[in-house]
Amino acid sequence: MTITDSSPVQPPVQPVPRLVEQFERGLDAPICLTWELTYACNLACVHCLSSSGKRDPRELTTEQCKDIIDELERMQVFYVNIGGGEPTVRPDFWELVDYATAHHVGVKFSTNGVRITPDVAAKLAASDYVDVQISLDGATAEINDAVRGDGSFAMATRALENLAAAGFKDAKISVVVTRHNVDQLDEFAALAARYGATLRITRLRPSGRGADVWDDLHPTPEQQVQLYDWLVERGDRVLTGDSFFHLSGLGAPGALAGLNLCGAGRVVCLIDPVGDVYACPFAIHDRFLAGNIVSDGGFDNIWKNAPLFLQLREPQSAGACGSCGHYDSCRGGCMAAKFFTGLPMDGPDPECVEGYGISALEKDRVKPKPSVDHSRGTRQGPIPLKLLTKPPARLCNESPV
Ligand code: SF4
Ligand code: SF4
Repeated sequence: MTITDSSPVQPPVQPVPRLVEQFERGLDAPICLTWELTYACNLACVHCLSSSGKRDPRELTTEQCKDIIDELERMQVFYVNIGGGEPTVRPDFWELVDYATAHHVGVKFSTNGVRITPDVAAKLAASDYVDVQISLDGATAEINDAVRGDGSFAMATRALENLAAAGFKDAKISVVVTRHNVDQLDEFAALAARYGATLRITRLRPSGRGADVWDDLHPTPEQQVQLYDWLVERGDRVLTGDSFFHLSGLGAPGALAGLNLCGAGRVVCLIDPVGDVYACPFAIHDRFLAGNIVSDGGFDNIWKNAPLFLQLREPQSAGACGSCGHYDSCRGGCMAAKFFTGLPMDGPDPECVEGYGISALEKDRVKPKPSVDHSRGTRQGPIPLKLLTKPPARLCNESPV
């Protein structure tokens, strides 16, 4: 008896690319899209990555913002990180949040807490599609306010109290790790636990005003080891994004959670308040400008076709890092950190765990000048809220909005 196989002929199985390989080639839509709604801010943090302060008179109108949300919905961008500046000072902020969630684009917004009153906290607690991230750069007022301005610790913790009292679940506390707060990581974790929040820690990048303070504020090599050890031992419930993959060489491959890849222009990008699209929120500079949503045919076109983004999705040269045993996990570190410290883009990260960044920083180098700066000049305390409820009589002259 002959047994014939009657099952259909199967086509040859095509290998499915690993997720990281798909990320390297870029996706049809970003998975980490940051949208800064305004350059206006009531604070003047010394390390602000977008050099925010004054509103830009060219900022997108409410209707233009809604058009972008429509486009994000068509592209199936499931959520957007909204920031600024301080996004809640835009008079149409809540209208835009409501419009986004009604159009299937979830919102996570970053705020210094200035507008998170008990009423607002109650409204937020009633939504399933809005997440809130409160910025805090010290677990005590002394450490925090030295960076973010007088009164900013009280403002942020009041917002967290209001959210917790309203029953808002799982707010985020977002901390930029500096030389002065790295000893407070346990205290930040305790603060998060107190408010039923999740801790998120990110790397200080030398972007925006951060370029001016990076030398003094970025963690020392010893502190980077301390940070790495803390993340490995206690960081399982701490969000880090792609912040610390440059530290991967300090331990076993895969010991650190998060994306170990620069996602700029591949899975990450930024829309700024005037509709300019940059490769990454930490790369606001003409060198990383892919186009403008208003003048270059919309976000979808820029994301898919901008020459800069296509180039970033090509395999990148390992350059001077090619012979390093950590390259697979570190990839030479952060593009923005290298660029804004004036280091070669195909060389080691300024915080390279092998110490190559230190020697590179000691050589002659030219730090690029910022292409945009909306700072209000000298450091100021918080701006009174009454100035923020309507546009000023003369744009950018008397108030940040
Ligand atoms: S430039 Fe730096 S911060 Fe931006 S995506 Fe790349 S690694 Fe992350
Ligand atoms: S030499 Fe390059 S790849 Fe190696 S640890 Fe330093 S930055 Fe990373």
